[in-house]
Amino acid sequence: MRIAETFRSLQGEGPSAGSPATFVRLQGCGVGCSWCDSKYTWDPDKGREAPLPAILDELFTHGPTDLLVITGGEPLEVRGFEELLEAACRSWTRVEVETSGVSSPPASVGNLFWNWSPKLPRVTPRWDDTWGAAAAWMAEPRTIAKIVVGEGDEAEAIRLARTLPRDRVWLMPEAMTEGDLKARSVELAEVCKREGWRLSPRLHLWLWGVRRGV
Ligand code: SF4
Repeated sequence: MRIAETFRSLQGEGPSAGSPATFVRLQGCGVGCSWCDSKYTWDPDKGREAPLPAILDELFTHGPTDLLVITGGEPLEVRGFEELLEAACRSWTRVEVETSGVSSPPASVGNLFWNWSPKLPRVTPRWDDTWGAAAAWMAEPRTIAKIVVGEGDEAEAIRLARTLPRDRVWLMPEAMTEGDLKARSVELAEVCKREGWRLSPRLHLWLWGVRRGV
């Protein structure tokens, strides 16, 4: 399979924010989000090809962690993802997958957690693909919906998020700078207070800015 990078860091978003984690970023994504901060992962022919055992060996060199985060790119569109998932769930206490959810969850395992991030209409022409399997994602008990909200997106975010169970919704600010992150977080905090949703931080952006490998 093709990967962009592996590294050790803190999970920056969602329910495990702040937790030490090993990351594997898969190569390839055809979703095309306008604000994507990892466009270097889009081309499925870039990155590097590695067999599954070599990827696992590389992940173990980062040292022991309870949490493995599989991200992208779009993992659901990467060949070999399901084999990686199976091996990961055998080796880590908790595995989280960051996905836009362009197809249904391909596996259901007790230590596998899905951070499903469906897109809003302004973000990509494929936004409705990411909502097409919403019922299947919500049927998976360890899935949370993490919706990235940018300027002008608030009304659509509220409309779509209200179709989901309240206790599974997280809003996360779209931002590329610390100033925008703070301002948008303050705005979204008010929405979350009103609607009973959670607010996701973006710790990696706050701590290190827009950088690879963090
Ligand atoms: S799904 Fe993820 S990797 Fe793909 S374009 Fe959107 S934000 Fe970027």
